[in-house]
Amino acid sequence: THFGFRDVPATEKQKLVGQVFTSVARKYDLMNDLMSLGIHRAWKRYFTATCQVKPGDRVLDLAGGTGDIAALLKPRVGATGQIVLGDINAGMLSVGRDRLTDRGLVSGLEYVQCNAEKLPFPDGSFDLVTMAFGLRNVTDKDAALREIARVLRVGGQARVLEFSEVKAEWFRPIYDFHSFKVLPRLGQLFAGDAASYQYLAESIRKHPPQEQLKAMMEEAGLSRCGYVNLSAGIVAVHTGYKV
Ligand code: SAM
Repeated sequence: THFGFRDVPATEKQKLVGQVFTSVARKYDLMNDLMSLGIHRAWKRYFTATCQVKPGDRVLDLAGGTGDIAALLKPRVGATGQIVLGDINAGMLSVGRDRLTDRGLVSGLEYVQCNAEKLPFPDGSFDLVTMAFGLRNVTDKDAALREIARVLRVGGQARVLEFSEVKAEWFRPIYDFHSFKVLPRLGQLFAGDAASYQYLAESIRKHPPQEQLKAMMEEAGLSRCGYVNLSAGIVAVHTGYKV
């Protein structure tokens, strides 16, 4: 379903919902900065700077709610390119749209509410599909990866940025302490919510580590799959191609 944002009258309720999501989004930014000491910005910059993309390309950014990845990729697709933000959450999409609009990014952007497990696009629609910090939240990850492969054109690239398994032994105890002791407290302090951040740490541990995700991408029909660890594997960038 495409979002006819312009056709919808801004009722009082929508304004209120918008405010709630704006505050959620602001908190989301603050928490990301606090939790990662601002490093998530560098991860996203690396992720987008190393994508295979050129002016005029058509890109799908899945779980693109916040608009961070789209904002970084927009200059690379240029005025003739197109970026579709796909997110399952209408509120997140509308926050992303507001933020991109505030940054002067309007044309060449589309917002589509969709589930990554079942994409509403024909085969071969995109030159590049990105998914940053989204795959972890998807119930059927194999289905999402198959859908990503399906909507890519032949020669197109799939890119996933996600938390992964820390590879440096010495860093593990520090990371675990940060995840299970510091994170929930930061969550309590700045977002009034310890449980969500406890969940975050647990969901990161449950997410398939580097080699397993690579195998899942191959299984889903992507080729030449590989990954790069960032920050000792706190996150990994996985790449695959449709051939
Ligand atoms: N990519 C953005 C970033 O890096 O800042 C947002 C990441 S945010 C942690 C996760 C996003 O995934 C949320 O906006 C959520 O609505 C979306 N999401 C969760 N499950 C999804 C699904 N099955 N299909 C599409 N989007 C999903």
